[in-house]
Amino acid sequence: MNEQAVGWYNEASDQSHQRRFGLIANFTDALQANDELYLVYQPRLDMVSGEYIGAEALIRWNHPTLGAVSPMEFVPLIERTPLARELTDWVIRNAVRQAAQWREQGNELQISVNIAAANLEEENFCDRLLHYLKQAGLQRNAVELELTESSLMNNNKAASEQLHCIASSGLSLAIDDFGTGYSSLAYLQNIPARVVKIDRAFIDGIENNDRKQVLVRAMISMTQELGYRVVAEGIETEAAHRLLKNFGCDEVQGYLFGRPMKQKEFERWLEGA
Ligand code: C2E
Ligand code: MG
Ligand code: MG
Repeated sequence: MNEQAVGWYNEASDQSHQRRFGLIANFTDALQANDELYLVYQPRLDMVSGEYIGAEALIRWNHPTLGAVSPMEFVPLIERTPLARELTDWVIRNAVRQAAQWREQGNELQISVNIAAANLEEENFCDRLLHYLKQAGLQRNAVELELTESSLMNNNKAASEQLHCIASSGLSLAIDDFGTGYSSLAYLQNIPARVVKIDRAFIDGIENNDRKQVLVRAMISMTQELGYRVVAEGIETEAAHRLLKNFGCDEVQGYLFGRPMKQKEFERWLEGA
């Protein structure tokens, strides 16, 4: 009985190990192929004007044999390998190209891209981004970088240099998944971010949860007093939207306004918005 249980366990862990290994091995090909990776865009809405002012670019992988693989599965794997550089470079180049195309069509949307802690260890990360923006004829605020709270914590010298370059050259930085990373808020003193995105874990079910309401209201007033613009992620209901409006939240993003959409679908959606 025990032996069987151990056998089962090993088989399952072996399969998941193989899957993870396979995903990492196949990702290099995915970067070269032009039909496996693509970006989807989710709109971000200004609470006061009600206008759409930006979109978050989110990566999708259509694997040739496994089909759709969630970024929640493959991004953390890739971020632990040297391919983290290629992943983010791919996302940034595509997001910059898209921002330039939309600008030509008269839509000045700021596109946010998610980057990994490892990217801040790249010596020329900030310069490369500035180069892409210049090449595309875009302003520096055309792209915003999102970094999770946890990745901002292990902020060494190399990372501090990149953060300094990001801030001093007028690039916008957002703290993603705010509230989930660490209990210490000390890092807020040294991070040159402009935006804080409250994690959707706090927003989910907020309309029926008094404690979440207290937490979110406190997070909004604290971060606003520190000078940040506050975005709430994961708004799914009108009731949640109303609450966040009352709390003075600056921007919202969530299924209620628009799901992450492929380029063409996003453009159609913009026309109707
Ligand atoms: P994130 O950056 O916090 O992105 C927000 C996630 O919440 C997205 O999931 C989005 O689809 C989902 N979401 C937005 N609104 C709602 C809502 O109203 N309800 C619900 N239930 N979910 C909502 P997605 O696209 O699966 O991405 C998951 C995570 O994977 C992202 O979290 C980010 O950490 C990572 N990721 C995605 N694309 C990239 C990328 O291009 N580069 C990097 N480094 N990470 C990425
Ligand atoms: Mg994000
Ligand atoms: Mg987030």
